[in-house]
Amino acid sequence: MNNFTYYQPQSVAQALPLLENRWGRVELLAGGTDLLDRLKEYVSTPERIVSLTAIEGPFREISAIPQAGQPPKVTIGAGVRLVDIAESKLLAPYPALTTAAAQIAGPQIRNMGTLGGSLCQRNRCWYFRDTHIQCLLKGGRKCYAHEGENQFHAIFTQGHPCVIVHPSTLAPPLIALGATAQIVSPRGNRELPLEKMFQAPSKPDQREHTLAPDEILLSVTVAPNLPPGTRLANASYEVKQKVTSDWPLVQAAVAFAIEPGSQRARNVRIVLGHVAPTPLLSPEAAQELEGKVVTEATAATAAAAAIQGARPLSQNGYKVPMLKAAVKRAILLAAGFKPDWE
Ligand SMILES: Cc1cc2nc3c(=O)[nH]c(=O)nc-3n(C[C@H](O)[C@H](O)[C@H](O)COP(=O)(O)OP(=O)(O)OC[C@H]3O[C@@H](n4cnc5c(N)ncnc54)[C@H](O)[C@@H]3O)c2cc1C
Repeated sequence: MNNFTYYQPQSVAQALPLLENRWGRVELLAGGTDLLDRLKEYVSTPERIVSLTAIEGPFREISAIPQAGQPPKVTIGAGVRLVDIAESKLLAPYPALTTAAAQIAGPQIRNMGTLGGSLCQRNRCWYFRDTHIQCLLKGGRKCYAHEGENQFHAIFTQGHPCVIVHPSTLAPPLIALGATAQIVSPRGNRELPLEKMFQAPSKPDQREHTLAPDEILLSVTVAPNLPPGTRLANASYEVKQKVTSDWPLVQAAVAFAIEPGSQRARNVRIVLGHVAPTPLLSPEAAQELEGKVVTEATAATAAAAAIQGARPLSQNGYKVPMLKAAVKRAILLAAGFKPDWE
């Protein structure tokens, strides 16, 4: 890797002046499980590394505030490790999130990787990660995956010059749960719905997220607002080639309010993961389930709607039926059905 200057500020306030307003010369370091690979492969060549590892307090904590008649409002600091999300008792009402965290990579990565790093990690496209290939994201003229090896790439490709899949398995459940992101920069603090924190990049000065180069993700908050008399149903289901140390081929995360007697679903949110350059909210799928009693049949109809916009590449058509099954299974799991597919 190239030489760099290493900074280890003790607070977010000390970290901010070390950042710059353009990408490339500075990188934030959290657990390092993504960044170190990029440094070693010369995919990222910063002159300055600003480590977040010495920042204590809320940045590294999960806190919960009870809400009357609702699941608790939970805030997860960006520096919280994946293992602590997977094992948190405060997050017990949010199995979509804890099961997704528990399935990321293997124990080593979960013990080092953080929420902030998971949401801000760079994509794993092999053309992007190959030092010798100048793809669109590195200033080249074309996305090689369109005509090349694309079995793990996006199936929602329309309008996307670059067909990466967004790599975060935590983003879909958080978006399904209606999470908001808290962000800080030298200009002050801002908050936005988490789905707005992602974009499909197509050039070197864009990342997979919409944070500015001088911004730091502070935390993510989940605060459900369910209709009276309902309970929160949520689940994440992923299909992987290997049980451990692998990314999902497809993922579906769902959250809805469910009426205990009728099993009717309301305020449905369905998010598709690892199938598009961003985590993908599917209003079409949500609409099919909204107001309906959750059954095998209604879950299947919603799943069929989720894949309508899919335009797979030459080698990844297999992901389409897989995604359909994942959406159906996530809905059924959330509603409390016992899995009959294992
Ligand atoms: C074998 C393997 C399998 C994996 N499988 C999965 C998987 O299934 N699902 C999945 O989601 N991930 C998977 N990962 C990726 C892993 O989850 C990420 O590497 C990890 O979450 C990154 O966290 P980190 O703290 O180590 O980030 P770092 O490597 O330290 O940082 C990653 C990026 O995020 C930025 N960043 C970090 N924190 C902040 C912040 N607070 N504000 C702004 N920017 C920030 C950094 O600048 C950097 O660019 C896998 C990784 C490996 C090696």
